[in-house]
Amino acid sequence: MIIDFHTHTFPDALAPRAVAGMAAAADMMHYSDGTAAALLASMARAGIDAAVLAPVVTKPHQTGDINRAAAEVNAAFQGRGLISLGGVHPDTEDPEKVLEGLAARGFPGIKLHPLFQGVPIDDERNVRLVEIAAALDMIVLIHAGSDPNYPGLDYASPRRLLRLLERVPHKKIILAHMAGFADWDEAEALWGAPCYIDTAVALGPWRRRDGQLSPARPMDGDRFVRAVRTHGAERVLFGSDSPWSDQGESLSALRASGLSDSELSAILGGNGARLLGWEG
Ligand SMILES: [Zn+2]
Repeated sequence: MIIDFHTHTFPDALAPRAVAGMAAAADMMHYSDGTAAALLASMARAGIDAAVLAPVVTKPHQTGDINRAAAEVNAAFQGRGLISLGGVHPDTEDPEKVLEGLAARGFPGIKLHPLFQGVPIDDERNVRLVEIAAALDMIVLIHAGSDPNYPGLDYASPRRLLRLLERVPHKKIILAHMAGFADWDEAEALWGAPCYIDTAVALGPWRRRDGQLSPARPMDGDRFVRAVRTHGAERVLFGSDSPWSDQGESLSALRASGLSDSELSAILGGNGARLLGWEG
């Protein structure tokens, strides 16, 4: 089974405009229109069995609407094919109640994006969210490293992420983008930390909106293999960040990275199935 643990979709009415807008703002190529139907078609082409959706609540007042839409996806797919995390903002009112509600409705976890949400990951409000999620045994997928939408902003820097991990020991934290998008040197400090890391868009290729290769550097292949082996392949998850990469291309890059078959099968599905409780 192949699970893509890091994808994004948007409600049909908003998706094409939202994705095109973000692509323009960050000068990034997008590989689908961001609808669930487009993601499912892409999964079918790439041979991916299931995808985890990671909605980001950028304004506290959106919390309810985003989670209602996510609950509809989960009801429609019953945990097969597509499964959405929930969303919460550090300034969402009564986060304890929101997370308890998500857990009660069967959401496996939440997504945090410190840059889009405007709050550093080691801020007390985020520490509190992760503590609540940990108490509920929920997955916490966190954007890690820089973000092309916010050049120079360090809210999810490896240094801040380390501080969070020291504050809240929780084995179900996932640091996206090999623990530090485009901050590859600094992210080495997180290799071996007690958390999962995902592979989303780390290996590239990175393309600008016009299709040309971006001047920014994806993770070097040798460093990627060292990262997986230092961290432990049993705590690495395949992710594509669709629509910000082509899922098939992301899969090919991972398969060509030089990892063993057993490492690949753990990263592609075994670890994700275990984390979602789909095993056995
Ligand atoms: Zn993402």
